[in-house]
Amino acid sequence: MLSYRHSFHAGNHADVLKHTVQSLIIEALKEKEKPFLYLDTHAGAGRYQLSGEHAERTGEYLEGIARIWQQDDLPAELEPYMNVVRHFNRSGQLRYYPGSPLIARELLREQDSLQLTELHPSDYPLLRQEFQKDSRTRVERADGYQQLKAKLPPVSRRGLILIDPPYEIKTDYQAVVSGISDGHKRFATGVYALWYPVVLRQQIKRMLRDLEATGIRNILQIELGVRPDSDQRGMTASGMIVINPPWKLEAQMNNVLPWLHSKLVPAGTGHTLIHQVVPE
Ligand code: SAM
Repeated sequence: MLSYRHSFHAGNHADVLKHTVQSLIIEALKEKEKPFLYLDTHAGAGRYQLSGEHAERTGEYLEGIARIWQQDDLPAELEPYMNVVRHFNRSGQLRYYPGSPLIARELLREQDSLQLTELHPSDYPLLRQEFQKDSRTRVERADGYQQLKAKLPPVSRRGLILIDPPYEIKTDYQAVVSGISDGHKRFATGVYALWYPVVLRQQIKRMLRDLEATGIRNILQIELGVRPDSDQRGMTASGMIVINPPWKLEAQMNNVLPWLHSKLVPAGTGHTLIHQVVPE
């Protein structure tokens, strides 16, 4: 089942959180000269037109990136991410939103490499086209979970693995845990960043319990809620689970998360959370 299209959701509050965390991890990895791999298991189309039919129909970006991109008190932690958003909107009008592969492409260096997989028959060709001229990048139409076995460990022995499934099938909540467990067995020192939606809180609690049961250590949870938990109103919050987070990430998110929440949710509903699920 591949009915999910990220173009309906691009630039929403969940993307803002995800891509903030993604860009901070990439910047941390760049502190060492040694190359690293960026592996994006569920890459999407890459670039999203916010004035396009899909994004206009839901208007989700209006309560996401549109609320922060021109703020003049932007915390320093948001600069790498916002620089990429600005790069795609040089006219000064917010027209395009860069997905995770394009954020990585702009932030990675010559010596780094990208591995992207996407299964959707319409999104895969768009993604491949975006990266046609980028010799650092390999784009494949393949199952993202399989990549956690096939592509790890990277030759460079350094890497960020972003796992961002649509959760349109309930088994995704288990598949992410077994995928991470497979990956971690092969590459225990990698940084793994898993995105999750809070639709039913119980599903997330179970997913976290399953992840703890793998025995993997050093797990940080970062969450931003826009409404109280509910079992009736769709996604009320989203979060990132980061395994082996860069040492500064927790402090950086402590600084930036309240700011993001105040701008993204002017009504003040919802919550923020930064929680060490399993210590080192
Ligand atoms: N990571 C992207 C970003 O932040 O810009 C968004 C990705 S979107 C949430 C999830 C994507 O996963 C969809 O484009 C969907 O087609 C794709 N997908 C679904 N199942 C997949 C699988 N098993 N392997 C690879 N891609 C898959």
